Amino acid sequence: MLADQLGRGLDDLRISVTDRCNFRCTYCMPREQFGPDHAFLPRASLLTFEEITRVVRVAAGVGVTKIRLPGGEPLLRRDLHRLVAAVTAVDGITDVAMTTNGVLLPAALDDLVGAGLRRVTVSLDALDQATFAAMADVKVAVDAVTGAIDAALDAGLVVKVNTVVKRGVNEGEILALAEFGRERGISVRFIEFMDVGHTNGWDVTHVVPAEEVVATIAAAHPLSPVVRPGAGPGATAVADRYAYDDGAGEVGVIASVTRPFCRTCVRARLSAVGELFTCLFATRGHDLRAVLRSGADDAELDAELRRIWTGRADRYSELRTLGQAQPEDRVEMSYIGG
Ligand code: SAM
Ligand code: SF4
Ligand code: SF4
Repeated sequence: MLADQLGRGLDDLRISVTDRCNFRCTYCMPREQFGPDHAFLPRASLLTFEEITRVVRVAAGVGVTKIRLPGGEPLLRRDLHRLVAAVTAVDGITDVAMTTNGVLLPAALDDLVGAGLRRVTVSLDALDQATFAAMADVKVAVDAVTGAIDAALDAGLVVKVNTVVKRGVNEGEILALAEFGRERGISVRFIEFMDVGHTNGWDVTHVVPAEEVVATIAAAHPLSPVVRPGAGPGATAVADRYAYDDGAGEVGVIASVTRPFCRTCVRARLSAVGELFTCLFATRGHDLRAVLRSGADDAELDAELRRIWTGRADRYSELRTLGQAQPEDRVEMSYIGG
């Protein structure tokens, strides 16, 4: 297995297909920073679907089995289903999923399912309209997102929901969202608000610890931790899972701030312009587009991937917990994907 400096393999590649978004979530793309004057990436600079597929093919050769397509908002990239079809067909790739805010999902479902998509994660931070609007900062009805979730379920997709919890804004929605998941048998994963990028005004006081989320839900619906077969050293899932004792499915928490999981982090991220980031909190990526466009063959691309991964020693969240993280000019999440 290809291993980095801390013995971690590379299993999961997240590919941002655009840095644009139709939402302005305050924790991700605050409107003051991503307003009309913001310079988004010029379309010609984006990797083509052929280039992305080539990276995926070579990445599969060094161990990647999982691909996720986030953004920005991935469904703003035209004909995304063509990329889904190409990536699904790559030998060694066993899992292709997408993360979306849901608004454009219903119209794209037929094409995506036809292309082989089986799983989707929809982000939803509140059911209450005013709270939803306070998080997403858009004039979109929350029903558009809940409707997209139901449409995806009707289309036969496995659906998960991602909820970022921000102290003082949407913590009052935790139970309602858990119930939304219980009614549909889908897993809602509550994510601790993270200090990604440098524009979202993060402060540790905005973080609602995952433990508090679990306690809030368990007070209404008793829960038991799900012990995964093979969990423990070597396990790589980021969510801590809990099953409802009454059999109504599962709920998850992603405790990236209070219980960092760097030791098992097997993820890399490819930005829309082809920079490979080996950590969500990296300040700099490795320019794979330059390699792709230099006429390099697959063996050279393979060597470059191996060189990058074997040199990796990232563990930002662990260092944050130890009080040793450097507040550098971190890359934005909408740029490298979630
Ligand atoms: N636009 C899509 C969406 O929102 O689902 C995909 C991209 S978004 C960057 C991917 C995930 O990152 C979303 O679930 C979002 O809630 C999460 N996210 C963004 N900023 C975050 C932050 N500061 N802390 C924790 N999660 C964050
Ligand atoms: Fe857009 Fe997703 Fe970021 Fe919200 S979290 S601004 S929907 S990219
Ligand atoms: Fe992985 Fe970096 Fe997050 Fe740690 S901080 S879990 S190394 S992406």
